[in-house]
Amino acid sequence: MKRYRFLDLSIADAGERADIAEAVARVIDSGRFVGGEEVDRFEKRLASLTGTELAVGVSNGLDALRLSLRALMETGRLKKGDGVAVQANTYIASVLAITDSGLVPYLIDVDLHSMIPTAENLEEAARNGVKAFMPVHLYGRPAWNAELSDVARRYGLIVIEDNAQAIGATVVTCPEQRRVTTGAIGHIAAFSFYPTKNIGAIGDAGAVTTSDPQLAATVRALANYGSDRRYHNIYRGFNCRLDPIQAAVLSLRLQKLEVENERRRKVAGVYSRIINQPDVVKPEFYAGSVWHQYVITHPDRDRFRAWLGEMGVETDIHYAVPPHRQPCYADLPEKDLFPVTDRLASTMVSLPIGKSTSTDDAEEIAAIINQFE
Ligand SMILES: *Cc1c(COP(=O)(O)O)cnc(C)c1O
Repeated sequence: MKRYRFLDLSIADAGERADIAEAVARVIDSGRFVGGEEVDRFEKRLASLTGTELAVGVSNGLDALRLSLRALMETGRLKKGDGVAVQANTYIASVLAITDSGLVPYLIDVDLHSMIPTAENLEEAARNGVKAFMPVHLYGRPAWNAELSDVARRYGLIVIEDNAQAIGATVVTCPEQRRVTTGAIGHIAAFSFYPTKNIGAIGDAGAVTTSDPQLAATVRALANYGSDRRYHNIYRGFNCRLDPIQAAVLSLRLQKLEVENERRRKVAGVYSRIINQPDVVKPEFYAGSVWHQYVITHPDRDRFRAWLGEMGVETDIHYAVPPHRQPCYADLPEKDLFPVTDRLASTMVSLPIGKSTSTDDAEEIAAIINQFE
């Protein structure tokens, strides 16, 4: 029986191996092992493809979020204790960044079909005084639309994008009708290049994008001990710099962003076209999504998933236990305010869509799913 791996990140392609080896060798030969040209080049490429003025390479996605929030605090736009609205169905890193910064997460529930926050829930958070909104472009779909944008504008919310899963995704703004890439929607945005993301490093890596020079400079200083120039520390900073080896690999892989996202869109298209098992609910086919995950729901999820496993189809769940149900957030008071998030957590299944899944695989997997009774 054929096995369909959920994700296999090994680099089988000889050309890709050679390119990566060459990029790594370039760093070794340069003798520049922190910062330098490779990091500069990567930052320019990322800013250019995102459509922001600036990008700062950092150590990973969680640090990118933490640094973004700290920069907003150091520049006086947020202060300790301010509320940050964030969707309850996010990966825990979004919430960790908020609490680590001395800010207060205000979880908001999502819409069952789009799986992004509803404008109604954001508006309630805004009426209750949150100062910021962290849209998480989960599964590659922008958590942004005209209604959310309108609430953010009316309440003057600071917008910090968690763009760990959606590099290259786009939204069309209203009323300007301009196509904007995720990472250029809010005041500042965090990217992750964890190996499983649409563009992955060969280790940990992340970045921050913004068009605000003061924020970019503050993130850069904070990531380098809070130092704005040598032996001058204006902030109590961290060491969260991007490794030049990762930067060299990422510059290479960024060139394949369009190809990779198009492959994912095709696989998602196959699933959406062929899956017709009556109890399966497919995700909305949002045109600007880059399909980091293809997430379906089934009311009898555990039996469905076990059966798929027996049929050779590996699946995953993103995420089985939402942040408000995690032991580390046992002190968050409201446990039952997120019925949609809880319902999704018990019915979701992520199908294979990563680099090891071809459109042929997707056709076969969809046909298997349709046989489930
Ligand atoms: C992966 C991820 C992060 C964290 O990124 P790391 O590089 O793993 O630290 C943050 N938010 C979301 C939504 C993610 O998927």
